[in-house]
Amino acid sequence: MESALSKQQRIDAMRIKLAEVGRFLFDRALTDAGGGNISARIDDVIVMSPSYSGQAHRWQLDPEDFLLVSLEGELLEGTGKITREASVHLGLHRKFGDYGSGVIHAHPRHVMVFAAMAMAIPPVLEATVKFGTVQCIEYAPAHSPHLAERIIEVITGQEERIAKHAAAALAPWHGLFLIGKDIDAAFDAVERIDTNCFCILQAQAALGARDLLSQQRDQFAAAAAKYRK
Ligand SMILES: [Zn+2]
Repeated sequence: MESALSKQQRIDAMRIKLAEVGRFLFDRALTDAGGGNISARIDDVIVMSPSYSGQAHRWQLDPEDFLLVSLEGELLEGTGKITREASVHLGLHRKFGDYGSGVIHAHPRHVMVFAAMAMAIPPVLEATVKFGTVQCIEYAPAHSPHLAERIIEVITGQEERIAKHAAAALAPWHGLFLIGKDIDAAFDAVERIDTNCFCILQAQAALGARDLLSQQRDQFAAAAAKYRK
């Protein structure tokens, strides 16, 4: 199916898709103005969001804003700057290219609570069991080569998950890094993992509400009963 389209046509289509994915990430609070970057590999070329996609563009990127970068990190086409997090993207594409082609780094709102607490994310939904527990890596500063190494280390061994859907790692005090079989699967995985985090966080509130509501129900029944006499 892929061979029906030329490499250039596939790159052009990917630019459009990535612009859409970026908008969706931002609109659905799956990343914020302060961070995130997305990339997809077409053969030996990476189509990548430019630096400051959030801060300068609020993720309202046009297809031509995306950069073309070689697997070694050389800028092939585009006027923007390569993101400082490119080493993680390139590392994941180089290491797991046989299994997946879509990489997302994001700051999803509910995942960020787990990042802030440096806590792994256990699956609590049928929709996230396939990702296993998303491991929290040992701290490495943003944009450092150690960050890329530690993310790759945690994802190594999860190649099957990438081939089927996606595999992710949490960077403490920072955010989520994930590689999917393609960019559609990667986006879908980011949202599933964020919903999973939302459910864990809300479960705590729901447990408190259950007791509160049963007390309220009893009080209400007693108050209403007086008027029925
Ligand atoms: Zn970030």
